[in-house]
Amino acid sequence: MKDDCIFCKIANHVIESDYVYEDDLVCAFRDMNPAAPTHVLVVPKEHYATIVDGVPQETLAAMAKAIDEVVKSEGIDESGFRVITNAGPDADQVVKHLHLHVLGGRFLGESLLAE
Ligand code: AMP
Repeated sequence: MKDDCIFCKIANHVIESDYVYEDDLVCAFRDMNPAAPTHVLVVPKEHYATIVDGVPQETLAAMAKAIDEVVKSEGIDESGFRVITNAGPDADQVVKHLHLHVLGGRFLGESLLAE
């Protein structure tokens, strides 16, 4: 765990959050500034900066399983959803701990980009 990382703290319950799923490797909690009716962040418990920071296959599989569990429990598995991960400056990654945004609950539009 990285001591100055907010998502390390949330994922390891040093700081509590609004969790919607958890297993040994990952957890999922609600984004504090939701961009859609469902906006959940899927986060590994170990610290990785981005999706390409040597994340073990087991953890990637756990993140995929977490998406599956979240979209079902949120009731958006049939209506549809979007999964986004920002990596680095051009993507405007703010929190430097790998997280997948799971968005849904309304029509999300055709554009992948805000601008
Ligand atoms: P990104 O630009 O991909 O790094 O997005 C970071 C996301 O984390 C934003 O959508 C924030 O609203 C969200 N966020 C930051 N801090 C917290 C927190 N303590 N609890 C929940 N969500 C957070």
